[in-house]
Amino acid sequence: MAAARGWLRKVAAVAGALPGGGGPGRAPGPAPDTAAPATAALYVHWPYCRKRCSYCNFNTYVVPAVDEAAVRACLVREAQTLLRLSQVHSVTSVFFGGGTPSLASPGTVAAVLEAVAGAAHLPAGAEVTLEANPSSTSASALDGFRAAGVNRLSIGVQSLDDAELRMLGREHTAAEARKAVEAARGLFPGRTSIDLLFGLPGQSRDAWAQRLEATLRLCDDHISLYQLTLERGTALAAQVRGGALPAPPQDLLADMYQTARNVLVAAGFRHYEVSNFARKGALSTHNLSYWRAEQYIGVGPGAHGRFVLRAEGGCSREARVQTLEPVAWMREVQSQGHGTRSRAVLSPLEQLEELLTLGLRMDEGITHERWGHFSPQLSLQAVFGEPGEARALQQEGWLVLDSGGLRCTWAGLAVLDSLLPDLLWQLQRVLGAARRPPRGAAGERAGGGARGL
Ligand code: SF4
Repeated sequence: MAAARGWLRKVAAVAGALPGGGGPGRAPGPAPDTAAPATAALYVHWPYCRKRCSYCNFNTYVVPAVDEAAVRACLVREAQTLLRLSQVHSVTSVFFGGGTPSLASPGTVAAVLEAVAGAAHLPAGAEVTLEANPSSTSASALDGFRAAGVNRLSIGVQSLDDAELRMLGREHTAAEARKAVEAARGLFPGRTSIDLLFGLPGQSRDAWAQRLEATLRLCDDHISLYQLTLERGTALAAQVRGGALPAPPQDLLADMYQTARNVLVAAGFRHYEVSNFARKGALSTHNLSYWRAEQYIGVGPGAHGRFVLRAEGGCSREARVQTLEPVAWMREVQSQGHGTRSRAVLSPLEQLEELLTLGLRMDEGITHERWGHFSPQLSLQAVFGEPGEARALQQEGWLVLDSGGLRCTWAGLAVLDSLLPDLLWQLQRVLGAARRPPRGAAGERAGGGARGL
């Protein structure tokens, strides 16, 4: 009870300090999004692969033949519909992901980009990324994608060791991956990213160090580094569960991640996001949009979006998910212009939870300005600057809250997942308390109503 009283006192102090006349009982909420400039990033999902990798549980399909003309028409139509519904006037970046979008023809990429440029402004030089698999990236194909408007490539190298690539069920060899990266660097200098996996079953500390050295000899200025997760239902997870392959120990995984950070930073990379490293300013504009909780539109089977439905007079950010299965998705797009399976208005708390969870993934963290856009009445300082979990995490050296905003320290970024539950709990508690009317105020309202009767 004493603790509860302490929190009530704290909330009263916080609420009293709200800018803009906010006081106890006044619900903190996001700024009306309609006041914000109508810009968005656009994600386009190509849902097909030639073969399923042993670790993959993405929304991807292996089919005997793809009716590319039909898929293209649906991607174009859905992009036009969602751009109209969101009334986005400028698209800041486009990302073709999958699946294996490098299996699509450059004509499909060009058609989608033309539709985007027709429905909204697509600035010259806006980042347009294509995810590519080394097995479908001949120099002529890459040249075609460049002519279609792609100006950045993200290549799924995953490993530079043939035995590891076989275990992962990848279609390509290490030599093919090298060739693909070299060809891409020739066509997209400074704008070729590579994806790499670590923590593979049986992968030793030394083997990982060798992969990192080989990567540094090959890479351009951006690397995405992911710890392999053994997803339920995948062939690789079944092999590990059945004892055919060893599960990587947790301390080894942590050690591999730290090794990679140290090696890449020593090589001039900035560790700008939990899984992403860039040098010479080659950060991914598109992915920054997600982490900064900006608007984004998802087109294609299973794509996710976060935007305001301005065409319907909306002023709240919605979470939107498109129908997963490509044939069902195409039927819906053909009949109603889009294949949205679910829509949900995000509450102020949900928006702040997303902002917190994603924003702390970046080394820049969450700026006061960005937080203020979503929470104009309850500042970062008001939520996380008071005694509580965040203060304790700051004192322990995991977190910083200063004039730049809230962010993880170098040590904190490596253990973000373990910090978030405490921070989310503090956010929920402070927001919930700030929204509850104080007892006196509620009583007055009730009394006033009674007098009116
Ligand atoms: S290429 Fe990528 S999306 Fe396709 S099966 Fe492999 S991991 Fe999954």
